[in-house]
Amino acid sequence: MIQIKTFYFNDLRECTYVLWDETGECVIIDPGCHSDSEKDRLMKFIDNENLKPVKLLNTHGHFDHIMGNAFVSAQWGLKTYIHIEDKPHLERAVKYSEMFGYTVEQPPLDTIDLNEGDLISFGNSHLTVMETPGHTRGGVSFYNDQDKIVITGDALFAGSIGRTDLPGGDYDQLMSSLLEKLVKLGDDYKVYPGHGPMTTIGQELASNPFLRYE
Ligand SMILES: [Zn+2]
Repeated sequence: MIQIKTFYFNDLRECTYVLWDETGECVIIDPGCHSDSEKDRLMKFIDNENLKPVKLLNTHGHFDHIMGNAFVSAQWGLKTYIHIEDKPHLERAVKYSEMFGYTVEQPPLDTIDLNEGDLISFGNSHLTVMETPGHTRGGVSFYNDQDKIVITGDALFAGSIGRTDLPGGDYDQLMSSLLEKLVKLGDDYKVYPGHGPMTTIGQELASNPFLRYE
């Protein structure tokens, strides 16, 4: 059984997720911790729960989701898993985040590529990679079919969808990721988005105005 802790980090209230199971091994998804106190909160949680981080996963490369990559990677000696199409975001993270007034430590570029169907294991558990591009070219979601959870990054939010006006964004591509792939997981899947509260696929199909079938 996978357990999930949500942190809301940095000024953009980005969702950082820690997922672990009965073995204590955990993955850290989209570490957006920026200030020292945010890094401290993450560290204390890992320590208090006696967790052992084994992987750093990125749903996509936007700076609010990768601000803590350097810290998390160094602190626990973790490799970064990201889709190859979003690696350019890591390469220009320092310059790009400067434009938004942030000083960000260069995220490690020694990454492992994520591809459709990859199994990401930790402890006795695994997550499956689903490519869900459209918000960015290399956007992915991570799901577990036993516990019926999916981490969507900025593809899908409670009541909304990710913006597609940033470089690499594509509205039609995002809609096909959502309607032809993500929602097909099933109504009972719990959705953990990149910003805002948790929801379910069923709830979004019933009320998210962007997911209305014509
Ligand atoms: Zn984003």
